[in-house]
Amino acid sequence: MNNDAFVEKCYSELEDKITHSGMTTGFEVMQLIEQAKIREAVLMILEAIGEDPEREGLKDTPDRVARMYAEIFSGLAEDAGVYLECVFTEEHEEMIVVKDIPFYSTCEHHLVPFIGKAHVAYIPAGGKVTGLSKLARVVESIARRPQLQERLTREIADVIMKKLNPQGVAVVVEAEHLCMSMRGIKKPGSKTVTSAVRGLFRKSAKTRAEFLSLIKT
Ligand SMILES: [Zn+2]
Repeated sequence: MNNDAFVEKCYSELEDKITHSGMTTGFEVMQLIEQAKIREAVLMILEAIGEDPEREGLKDTPDRVARMYAEIFSGLAEDAGVYLECVFTEEHEEMIVVKDIPFYSTCEHHLVPFIGKAHVAYIPAGGKVTGLSKLARVVESIARRPQLQERLTREIADVIMKKLNPQGVAVVVEAEHLCMSMRGIKKPGSKTVTSAVRGLFRKSAKTRAEFLSLIKT
C-alpha cells in the first residue's frame, strides 16, 4: 500500500467510526492522520539510508513504527495528574516509598530509548493518600513522551506536589541511555542518576537520608 492509499484507508476508517458510533474525539482524528505522516517519514528514512522499503522485511515497517509511536508517545495526549485524582483518606503522615518502578522512555535528542527505574516517595498531608499503582501510572505517562531524564524526574515530583499537596516528594531516576551505549561514546551499562526533592525532603537532611537508605536496600 502506498502512502496515499494508507491515508485513504485512515479516512475511511475514520468515517466508519463516525457513522457507526456517532462520536469521535479530536484526539482520535489527530492520531489517525498523524500516523499517516509518521508512516511517510519512516518510508523516507528507509529510502535515505539506501534501503529498499519494498523488500519483505521492511514493507510493513512504516505501518508498524506508526502504530508503535502512537503507543510510546501516548503520554503527550494525557495529563499525568489524572491518575492522582482518586485519593483516599488515611491518617498516615509517614513516608511512603515505591521503588524500582520500571519505565521505558525516549530520548528527545536522538529518538532512541532510555530505560531504567524510578523511585518515588512522598509524605502525605491532611490524610491525602493515593493508590501505590497510581504512582507507577504517573511515571509511565510522563515517560511516554519525547523526554529528557532531568525533566522526567522533575515532572514526576511536580505533578505529585500539585495533586496531593503532600509535606514533601522525592524522586530518584536511574537510567541507561541507548544513545550513549550504542553510539557516540559507547559506554554500555553506564547509568545516569537524577533526583528531584520538594518540601520536607528538601528542608530536612534526615528525611532525605531516610529515603536514600530505603531505596538502597
Ligand atoms: Zn540521547
